[in-house]
Amino acid sequence: MTGPRQTDYRVAIVGGGVIGLYTAYRLARAGAGRIVVLDRGSYLSNGASGRNGGGVRQQWETPETIRLAREAVEAYRRFGSEFGVNPWFRQSGYLFLADSPAEVERLQAVHRTVTQEGLPSQWLTPERVARLVPGLSTTGILGASYLESDGTLYPFPVVWGLFEAVQNLGVEVCLGTEVYRIAARDDRRLSVDGAHGRLDADIVVNAAGGWSSEVARRAGVDLPTRPVRHEICATEPLKPFLDPMVVRASDGLYFSQTMRGELVGGISVPHPEGLGPGMTTSAGFLVRYARAVLGLYPALRDLRVLRAWSGYYDESPDGLPILGADPSLPGLVHAAGFGGHGFMLAPAIGRLVAAAALGERTAELAPFAPGRFANPSAPVRNREKLSLG
Ligand SMILES: Cc1cc2nc3c(=O)[nH]c(=O)nc-3n(C[C@H](O)[C@H](O)[C@H](O)COP(=O)(O)OP(=O)(O)OC[C@H]3O[C@@H](n4cnc5c(N)ncnc54)[C@H](O)[C@@H]3O)c2cc1C
Repeated sequence: MTGPRQTDYRVAIVGGGVIGLYTAYRLARAGAGRIVVLDRGSYLSNGASGRNGGGVRQQWETPETIRLAREAVEAYRRFGSEFGVNPWFRQSGYLFLADSPAEVERLQAVHRTVTQEGLPSQWLTPERVARLVPGLSTTGILGASYLESDGTLYPFPVVWGLFEAVQNLGVEVCLGTEVYRIAARDDRRLSVDGAHGRLDADIVVNAAGGWSSEVARRAGVDLPTRPVRHEICATEPLKPFLDPMVVRASDGLYFSQTMRGELVGGISVPHPEGLGPGMTTSAGFLVRYARAVLGLYPALRDLRVLRAWSGYYDESPDGLPILGADPSLPGLVHAAGFGGHGFMLAPAIGRLVAAAALGERTAELAPFAPGRFANPSAPVRNREKLSLG
């Protein structure tokens, strides 16, 4: 454990994943004062930030998510020069396959929204899909949406680049420091009790990923996020054969080829909500994933899986992130509810959460305000549904 050096901070961030670290970076760059990041893991990236598929896309159902993703793509393009670490961001496209009239309708709506947002989305016929991805079976495919500037990156260099950058800016990052309790200390400050002992902070940011509702409970507030386990795997490497990330939203299938040659991907498998039974994998997932990939790519039948694992999506009721000040505990700021796409939004989220922590009022935060769920009897419309895996 690396404990905090002080007992007084302007901002304490609970969670040292990509969201907590990007927020710390933006705050430190804004000269926010003393900042500490507390993570209970004994190593960096023990949460979803070290367990994801590295997909970065701007094809979404809502303009709100598209705008966050678009800003993030620009940030990841300059990540190497800004942080001195190469995240191997490869913009080789995302291809969403439609395999029913309902999926055609849904993905054409996505295509129109993305186009209206000024991005050069394309609607492809099955023939164009076959030309774009040689070897892919287009049997049953009715069309596809495609955006070339989407892509993939390696999550670990991003987390490590941020970790080094924030430390160089004076931020303390403490590992092995679980937070047990957050409470109002007086009418201005919060106290944070944990494995480190106690510290005080003006602002506490809840950036605990799949544990965000649990951390909220430890602060005595309700946050309507829920952790849902998702599985993923990587195969042995092959020569480069696949450019875009291939997605079939109808069953949550996705796979891409990394620059090391591995095929990395997953598929939806129903898991009970909640934390447990751990971040392992299941035979059922591997069978389902293998059948789905081989249905589209029969030539991969001898490919062997090298590693499989899982992590938690932190789901919000309407599919949009929950960002900003908690309505009932002054000083507590949430950065939660990122589903299967927090990594690709992180640069934009970090900027917005830092603004919220500094008390800036920006219209950009309005659609993500925690208070939107304050009335439990008001119906919640699921707005952003294009989550995968
Ligand atoms: C299988 C899988 C595939 C995914 N694929 C993609 C993808 O392709 N693209 C994409 O953009 N996103 C993807 N995601 C989602 C993405 O990984 C997450 O949205 C993102 O990493 C969330 O970052 P975070 O910092 O909020 O959470 P995390 O990285 O989970 O960090 C939260 C941290 O909080 C710490 N913590 C929890 N409780 C406490 C406590 N009480 N005290 C102290 N610390 C605590 C944890 O130790 C953890 O390190 C995927 C996720 C999974 C599981």
